[in-house]
Amino acid sequence: MKTEPADLVVFNAEIHTMNENNDVAQAIAIRDGKIIEFGPDRQILNKYAYASSVDARGKQIYPGFIDAHGHLMSYASQLLGVNLVGSLSEVEMLNRVEDYRKVNKNPIIIGMGWDQSLWDDSTFPDNKKLNVLFPDIPVCLYRIDGHSALVNEAFISLLGNFDVPYGGAILTDDSGVYTGLFIDAALQLFDEVLPKYTNEALRTKILVIQKELFAHGVTGVHEAGVSADELSLLNEMISSGDLKLNIYAMLSHSQQNKEFVRRNGIYRNKSLLVRSFKAYVDGALGSSGALLKEPYHDHPNYNGLTLSNIDSLNALRDFCLLNGYQLNCHGIGDAAVSQILRMCKMAYEKNPDHRFRLEHAQVVDPVDFHLFNDYAVFPSVQPTHATTDQRWAISKIGPERMKGAYAYKTLLNQFGMIALGTDFPIEFTNPFFTIHSAVHRQNSKGFPEEGFLVEESLTFQETLKGMTIWAAFSSFQETELGSIEQGKQATFVILDRPLNKSNVFTPNYSWKTFLNGEIVHSLD
Ligand SMILES: [Zn+2]
Repeated sequence: MKTEPADLVVFNAEIHTMNENNDVAQAIAIRDGKIIEFGPDRQILNKYAYASSVDARGKQIYPGFIDAHGHLMSYASQLLGVNLVGSLSEVEMLNRVEDYRKVNKNPIIIGMGWDQSLWDDSTFPDNKKLNVLFPDIPVCLYRIDGHSALVNEAFISLLGNFDVPYGGAILTDDSGVYTGLFIDAALQLFDEVLPKYTNEALRTKILVIQKELFAHGVTGVHEAGVSADELSLLNEMISSGDLKLNIYAMLSHSQQNKEFVRRNGIYRNKSLLVRSFKAYVDGALGSSGALLKEPYHDHPNYNGLTLSNIDSLNALRDFCLLNGYQLNCHGIGDAAVSQILRMCKMAYEKNPDHRFRLEHAQVVDPVDFHLFNDYAVFPSVQPTHATTDQRWAISKIGPERMKGAYAYKTLLNQFGMIALGTDFPIEFTNPFFTIHSAVHRQNSKGFPEEGFLVEESLTFQETLKGMTIWAAFSSFQETELGSIEQGKQATFVILDRPLNKSNVFTPNYSWKTFLNGEIVHSLD
C-alpha cells in the first residue's frame, strides 16, 4: 500500500550516498526538493505514491559535485575576450589576438589564458611583437593564472604616471625599459583603464558556464573572490531564477564588502550563501609571484611577492571572527603558507570550529604541516594544478622543496578533510579531470607516466568526498549538501557512464543533473 506522498522517485540506480557509512542504495524519494528517503527499489517504490519517476537504468548516482574553488566571473570575462588557453607558441597567441580583432572592434583588446610553459621558449614573453602588430590599439593579455599580464606600449601609455604598487612587479629589460609584463598587485593599475563588460554580456556567459557545469554534474561552486558589483550581479541572477547553481561566494577584501557584512551579517538568498572573505597573501608560482622562504631555484635573490601585510591580514581575521565569517587565504609559496597558518592560531583559540581555509597550499615547508592540525586549518586544493604544474614546478622550487609540494595526502592526514576544486578558468571545469589527477597524479593524457609525486595520491573515495561532503563542510553547508541523506537538498548527478577507476582517462558526462529535485540537465 503506497501511503506516503512523494514528488519524484528515482530508482534502478547505484546510489553512492557519501554518508557516514558510505551506504549504497538503489532508489531515492524526493519531496519539496528534498530527499525524504533512500533504500532498496522495493522499499521506496512500494512505500511512496509519487507524481513522477526516473528509471536510472542501473547508472551511478553521486551527490552533485561541488567545485570548492572556481571563478565564474573571470571565466565569464575570459569568454568575452580573446581566448588564449592552450596557445602552443607566442605566434599562436598573437594570431588569436589578430583573429579576434577582425571581428571585435572594442577600443581595448583584452585576452586571457596564455601559458609560456607550453612554448618552446618558456621564459616570460615581452611585448616587442605585440607593439609591432598593434602600435595604436591597447592590448592586455592575462596569463592563465590571472596573476600576470602582457601589455603593449599603447596600453602602458594609457596608465600615465604610476608607481609600482605594494605586492606588485613590473619587469624591465637590461636598459630599464618595460618589457610589458606586469605581475600581481601591479595589475591593479589597470583597474582605471580597463573597460568593464556590461552586466548583460556577463550574464549571457555566466549562463553558458552554468550549462557547462551541469553537463558535468557540477551543481555548486565556491566563487573565490567577488567584488560588491559582481556579488550584486550574481544575486540578481539568483533572484530572477536564471542562476540555479549553488554558489558559496567569498568576498574580496574591500571596504565595500565589509560594509555589506556589517549590513547583512551571514547572507543567504536561495542558492547563494555569503559568509567568507578571500585574501591573497602571495601570487602564483607560474608567474613567480608565490612567496617562498628561500629564493627561487631559477632566480637567486628573489623570493616572490607579498600581497597582504600581516597587520591587514590580522585585522581581516578579527573582522571575520566578529561577524561569524570564514577567512579563506590564497597561499601558494611556503612562506605565505606559513604566515597564514600562524595567523590562524588566534582564530583557533577564539573558535576551534572557525573553518578558515588555506587555498592552494602548493608548497609547504614540511616543518609547518602540523599547523594544519594544530590550528584546524582547512586545506583547499586543486588536483589538476599538480598535474599541470609538474612540467615546471621543480625548475621554480628545486628538488628539496618538492617534498612538501602538492602534498594533498599529507594535508588530508593533518586536517582529516580536504576540499577539492579546479580554480577554473585556470584549469577546466571538468570534475572528471580532477578525479583523474587526484587519484592517479597524471593528466588526462597520461602524463607523467609514473605519476607526479604518487605518494601524495588520494584514494577514489577521498577524492569524491573532497568534491562532495568535505567541500560542503568547508562552506558550512554539510547539513544541506554534499551527501544523499534524508532532509538534504535533492541535488545529485546520474552519471552517463560508471566512474572510471583505471589510469586511462575516459571522458564522462552527467546523464541527468538534479538540483533541488528539478532536472537541470539531461542527455535525452
Ligand atoms: Zn583562484
